[in-house]
Amino acid sequence: MSGKKRRVLVVGGGAAGMMAAIAAAGAGAQVLLFEKNEKLGKKIYITGKGRCNFTNACSPEEFPGYVSTNPKFLYSSFGRFNNEDVIRFFEESGMKTKAERGGRMFPVSDHASDVTGALARRMRELGVAVHLSSPVRELVLDSAGERVCGLVLGDGSRQEGDAVIVATGGLSYPSTGSDGDGYRFAEKAGLAVKEQYPSLVPMTTLEADAAQMQGLSLRNAGVRILDGKKVLYSGFGEMMFTHFGVTGPLILTASSVIRKPWKHDTLRMEIDLKPALTEAQLDARLVREFETGANKQLRNVLGTLLPAKMIPVIIARSGISPEKPAHDISREERRRLLGLLKCLPYTLTGTRGFAEAIITNGGVSVRGINPGTMEAKTVKGLYFAGEVLDVDAQTGGFNLQIAWSTGHAAGIAAAQPVQDAI
Ligand SMILES: Cc1cc2nc3c(=O)[nH]c(=O)nc-3n(C[C@H](O)[C@H](O)[C@H](O)COP(=O)(O)OP(=O)(O)OC[C@H]3O[C@@H](n4cnc5c(N)ncnc54)[C@H](O)[C@@H]3O)c2cc1C
Repeated sequence: MSGKKRRVLVVGGGAAGMMAAIAAAGAGAQVLLFEKNEKLGKKIYITGKGRCNFTNACSPEEFPGYVSTNPKFLYSSFGRFNNEDVIRFFEESGMKTKAERGGRMFPVSDHASDVTGALARRMRELGVAVHLSSPVRELVLDSAGERVCGLVLGDGSRQEGDAVIVATGGLSYPSTGSDGDGYRFAEKAGLAVKEQYPSLVPMTTLEADAAQMQGLSLRNAGVRILDGKKVLYSGFGEMMFTHFGVTGPLILTASSVIRKPWKHDTLRMEIDLKPALTEAQLDARLVREFETGANKQLRNVLGTLLPAKMIPVIIARSGISPEKPAHDISREERRRLLGLLKCLPYTLTGTRGFAEAIITNGGVSVRGINPGTMEAKTVKGLYFAGEVLDVDAQTGGFNLQIAWSTGHAAGIAAAQPVQDAI
């Protein structure tokens, strides 16, 4: 038996594609990477608000707990290239790193461009041939459709290869280049693709009063999302009202646990405006405020408890006249106000679209993919990595970690020399 150097074609120069190219070239393959944009890693530049939260410093055992869809599928690839390996990889590539709140890892420079720069440098050192402005139009399979042989570029030219790694991303922020080509490639190769939904995405509400509070940010709110009586999500953090509903880190995280698709208007969101106070403590506070401002109108006594934009909304929901003097507020009316402060209800009607979604939920079904190698079970030499797969995670650096781990696994496997029979 003799080994032959493999020619590996990588489709997509995002996080997963670049890591796959580096792993494959590092394992001895001849690697060509095709990126449709004029530059590499366009999405990386906007991650972490331009600072790129490239992974999380949680213990590797905790990682699956942050994966929302198909965590078990990732055990093998994460096990072989985990968050600690990724941190080491970037440090060794000349990028200093730092941990922030919640274990979020960033480049010390706070520049996402350093992440792309480190990856591009490693690819250069390893001799990866990077082709920019080179959209891949389709894959080429053998006549039986059981082996990949190459790909066709947008200009009609053909590239032969022993392996093709599809790392074309999902559908979120399509302006960065990820607009679903990989799903088309997978379907044409006979693989199942799960329907896609925007995730880590702002949500829309039925009640129009969210729009009245547009721009209002709550630093520490409690949010519960319920399907009937079943609590789907419960958490604390920062949220914001918008003209269409709600957004902010807490809301984006909450959106990832909602099973999709959901029947419109069936999910309810409850906002606890005073999560640090028990009902009894908050009631005592209301009593105090109403005593101190006994002769003031209701709308003028809530200022110490609520942001100005929220006062008319809460009063309207309570059904109490805003002009009513505080000393005239009945016990029952106070209970109603208390109820709204601890549980302001909204009906969720849906999410915003892919253009505003951090991540795509759905994609190439992991049932058809070998979790150790990322190779399609039914098409030899065809690999998938990153967001194109039906895997997604919460915010905190976990989605990029998925791209690094799956990209690395695909690259290593795709580079394994073809064994020629004697
Ligand atoms: C605003 C925003 C902020 C985010 N912040 C974070 C964060 O801080 N931390 C985190 O972990 N995750 C974050 N994410 C998620 C993270 O960016 C993605 O999970 C990750 O980029 C996915 O990497 P990928 O390589 O699979 O896909 P992508 O990064 O989408 O890369 C796919 C590449 O393939 C190219 N391509 C597509 N089709 C073709 C084709 N036919 N031919 C050639 N090239 C093609 C595209 O142009 C693109 O460059 C954020 C996402 C967004 C939108």
